[in-house]
Amino acid sequence: MMPDIKANIDTVKKEITRMCKHVGVAENQPKLVAVSKVQPIERVRAALEAGHRVFGENRVQEAEERWGELKPEYPDVELHLIGGLQTNKASNAVALFDVIQSVDRPKLAKALATEMDKQGRKLPIYLQVNTGREEQKGGVLAEDLEGLLADCRTLGHNVVGLMCIPPANDDPTLHFALLKKFAKKHGLARLSMGMSGDYALAAAMGATDIRVGTAIFGARDYS
Ligand SMILES: *Cc1c(COP(=O)(O)O)cnc(C)c1O
Repeated sequence: MMPDIKANIDTVKKEITRMCKHVGVAENQPKLVAVSKVQPIERVRAALEAGHRVFGENRVQEAEERWGELKPEYPDVELHLIGGLQTNKASNAVALFDVIQSVDRPKLAKALATEMDKQGRKLPIYLQVNTGREEQKGGVLAEDLEGLLADCRTLGHNVVGLMCIPPANDDPTLHFALLKKFAKKHGLARLSMGMSGDYALAAAMGATDIRVGTAIFGARDYS
């Protein structure tokens, strides 16, 4: 059965607002990025019909298939790439997405800068930080962040913030705190952190972009 997407969005937003008020950051409401990867298109349409416009996808090809159809219908949609990106997909990513949250290495930063110049599309980017130092996960290691940021600025990128995905079995608190510390140190305003399991905590800790999939759309069916 299709979940009540509109009700879910309202619930998540209310909870975010409640947490922000609770800790006294109510004036800066975080942006809710509805993560639509793998979800059936009817569920994505339900979110659009409920008036939601900010979405996240983690794979370029899947996003192209879905949003190639939906974006012309909803031209005010803001699409965030939140997953790992191969340099050979940089061209497609720049053409489709409005924000790239997952820049994590100089080679990718270079490829994206080249494409943005070529296409005349200057997209805001986030640097993804591998705060949990997990081998299988994307993201720059803490000690390489400063160098990557310098590279990005030299390339003319508009680096607006940092993003992290804490290890599944860790308390996310320390990872969110670390991300916030790095952002402050480097003068970056935006913090993309928090998912379905910990979005309220992320809101309380100053997230500006919260990426929620399951709590809005229901469980993803990978079968
Ligand atoms: C899938 C995904 C999410 C959403 O996860 P949920 O637990 O379903 O809310 C958030 N961020 C990233 C980077 C993801 O890949």
